[in-house]
Amino acid sequence: MTEHTTRMLIVGSGPAGLTAAIYGARAGLQPIVVQGLQPGGQLTITTDVENYPGFRDVIQGPWLVQEMEAQAVHVGTRMLWDTIVEIDLTGPRFTAIGDSGDTYVGDTLVIATGAQAKWLGVPGEHELGGKGVSACATCDGFFYRGKKVVVIGGGNTAVEEALYLTNHSHDVTLIHRRDSLRAEKILQDRLFAHTGITVLWNKGIDHFVAHPEDGHLKGVKLIDTITGEHSLYETDGAFVAIGHAPATELFKGKLELDANGYIVVEPGTPKTAIPGVFACGDVMDHTYRQAVTAAGTGCMAALDAERYLAEREYLAEKAAFAEG
Ligand code: FAD
Ligand code: NAP
Repeated sequence: MTEHTTRMLIVGSGPAGLTAAIYGARAGLQPIVVQGLQPGGQLTITTDVENYPGFRDVIQGPWLVQEMEAQAVHVGTRMLWDTIVEIDLTGPRFTAIGDSGDTYVGDTLVIATGAQAKWLGVPGEHELGGKGVSACATCDGFFYRGKKVVVIGGGNTAVEEALYLTNHSHDVTLIHRRDSLRAEKILQDRLFAHTGITVLWNKGIDHFVAHPEDGHLKGVKLIDTITGEHSLYETDGAFVAIGHAPATELFKGKLELDANGYIVVEPGTPKTAIPGVFACGDVMDHTYRQAVTAAGTGCMAALDAERYLAEREYLAEKAAFAEG
């Protein structure tokens, strides 16, 4: 079993972790990125990305994170294939244990473990991902301009996604399994007032149906939650919006988490309550959840980590000087 030591230990290899690595490496902190079970993060499971700045043409999500990784490695990051299963945040150095049995010790820790959209887990959902089924209207809504879409869910996320989709689609249907929404009243009022949105109540999704010709989504097979009756609802796009789960299991009881499990940071910064431990990207942000915001907070985490180390070293030198 090997021990890896670094000035900056980064857990997670999505846009947040990789951007922290680029900044950390350029500051001479020789970062280590522990990649986890999804190297490259959520962008590896999508296709077209049209909203990451700097690219006029459509780019592919997996390509974008590969480029980020190549840049991080080019400036001196060590990418390691492992998943952290245990973590000790007592400090002053932070120790993580990998699934491989290896130990990782960082003078600073950047948590970039992301979040995962919750899926329904019904037949066809996985197979039609990127072919009509999505969990991100901000990311994929643009591809459905002028087309018919459905949103599944009844919380704030679902209502916001439905309202957002009206920017592109004239025909948006919200499908909910009960007869009342969980979303805040103000959002419900906006939803019900919108002429471009229809709500289908008491309908669950039995499975997603593919077009036999092109393999793209043809519709959703609904099941009435009261009568048990099945029906096909044809649509071009289906957005699953039943919530997100941040990957914070490791940090329970060690860092403050909000009611939805996201890491709590000092507002406007990536600083957690533990000096030297920073959180960035989707793991601390349930609002924006975009590649560019993840990258932005990754940058902030690295800059703050660098400042934290510089200050700690300055204070140590001052103390040593005072002692003579
Ligand atoms: P993630 O990308 O979620 O990465 C988390 C990383 O943490 C992964 O590498 C994982 O392996 C690692 N990890 C987790 N637990 C551990 C552990 N215990 N040990 C080690 N590593 C661990 N955004 C856009 O801006 N534009 C788009 O077009 C777009 N399209 C999207 C399409 C889809 C289908 C999805 C799901 C998301 C899309 N997004 C898009 C959102 C974007 O992908 C996320 O906001 C972004 O990836 C978040 O980056 P992150 O680095 O915070 O986390
Ligand atoms: P949520 O509040 O947990 O709502 C999830 C919705 O999906 C519920 O309506 C639930 O139905 C439905 N659902 C769950 N599993 C399902 C399944 N298997 N099949 C069909 N439907 C299913 O999640 P969220 O909307 O993502 O919100 C999460 C948190 O973030 C909330 O605290 C919310 O307030 C917050 N948030 C806030 C804002 C904002 O302030 N603007 C925006 C987004 C999110 P039931 O109602 O029947 O349980």
